[in-house]
Amino acid sequence: QWGALQDDLARTLGENNYKTWIKPLKFNGCEGEVAVLQAPTNFFGSYVSQNFGDAILARISTVEPGVRRVQFRVDTASRPANQPTSHSQPRPAKAPSPVSDIVPDGPLDENFTFNTFVVGKPNELAHAAARRVAEGGAVTFNPLFLHGGVGLGKTHLMHAIAWELRARNPELNVLYLSAEQFMYRFVQALRDRRMMDFKSLFRSVDVLMVDDVQFIAGKDSTQEEFFHTFNALVDQNKQIIISADRAPNDIKSLENRIVSRLQSGLVVDVHPTDYELRLGILQSKFEKNRKHYPDVEVDEGVFAFLAHRISTNVRVLEGALNRLFAFASLVGKTVDISMAQECLTDVIRASERKISIDEIQRKVAEHYHIRLSDLIGPKRVRNFARPRQIAMYLCKQLTARSFPEIGRRFGGRDHTTVLHGVKRVEDLMLSDAQIAEDVELLRCALEE
Ligand code: ADP
Ligand code: MG
Repeated sequence: QWGALQDDLARTLGENNYKTWIKPLKFNGCEGEVAVLQAPTNFFGSYVSQNFGDAILARISTVEPGVRRVQFRVDTASRPANQPTSHSQPRPAKAPSPVSDIVPDGPLDENFTFNTFVVGKPNELAHAAARRVAEGGAVTFNPLFLHGGVGLGKTHLMHAIAWELRARNPELNVLYLSAEQFMYRFVQALRDRRMMDFKSLFRSVDVLMVDDVQFIAGKDSTQEEFFHTFNALVDQNKQIIISADRAPNDIKSLENRIVSRLQSGLVVDVHPTDYELRLGILQSKFEKNRKHYPDVEVDEGVFAFLAHRISTNVRVLEGALNRLFAFASLVGKTVDISMAQECLTDVIRASERKISIDEIQRKVAEHYHIRLSDLIGPKRVRNFARPRQIAMYLCKQLTARSFPEIGRRFGGRDHTTVLHGVKRVEDLMLSDAQIAEDVELLRCALEE
């Protein structure tokens, strides 16, 4: 019966959601009004509960009318330790590609798949776009341009696209390489007088992915060649996926015609991680690494602590977690907050943003040409209230201060006022391009 319900859910939620989130669930029967489902991990359970809980409940209650609630439980014993997502597709063997003899593609990391990518608000758009492209079919966005700071998952997403494309169609000629490798190959071809080979090879791929394209900025002949390759592929309606550490028009010394080409498809921003995403990533990495440290126990609150104290770079977060586990398994103790503090002092210190509330307030006041006293003061007119909310938002984003602490620094306001202000700015950033831009400008200025 659960099988039939799952099929039903596959139809309503779509094949992808089904495969990723519904299929791995097991039905453990009902306990009174509670239907119990077994999820591979805690994070998985809470994600499904948040996103599909209602749909699942609706389905179950059509056959079990008494059910009022769905509960997710984790069965740690039965889960294969290194496969948090037992639904993961068999990893495709690298498809032999004719191009790879002469232009070896950047090796794809086995761990960088969609299954291991944790989705949260800051990266959901990038993830959705990547998924869409990976599903193949019609070329919808060309190019797909992913940009964002270091360690936020751009390369991970690109590899995930490549794995998925190759799994779906082993014939497809998918070429992934860094912009640096592109340049290297280009220079080599020039030197060996093999430009014709180079050109025809690059023009014969079905999907071209170039990572960290900012690298070719200012390198004139490489840019030139890149531009021609790009145009040739777009003309043939071949998919191109590009990443960079910033938006196309922010890359200095990149030719205008290339900038406008890069902007002609879909440009998506991978935002810095927020607390919830960091928590999700930590949980997911923990589940995944558990097998390496079978007897390490983790106290409640440790992940929250790490997600709060460690910066937005996921690579740093992963490194910290690994170190902590290694330490815990050596000393044979349960991981608690004080152990984390002790073992990760340097990481935490390095992550501690040096940006102060004062600094943020000054910058915001300056940006909006208002007085600091008006920014902090009691006046509620819009000219002051909006910048104030933006300043609060930035304080929350860029410092480790809590809502009450921020409230205190804004003329003794209540923490709910701060909470409301932050929420308001988050909403506005989605609907008001000017505000989004102001906030980004301020953030950049402060982080400099
Ligand atoms: P970038 O290319 O943006 O600098 P990477 O893709 O190399 O970043 O990511 C850095 C590390 O963080 C990788 O190990 C990657 O697997 C991990 N990572 C980043 N974002 C996520 C995510 N959303 N879920 C899981 N792992 C992530
Ligand atoms: Mg990268």
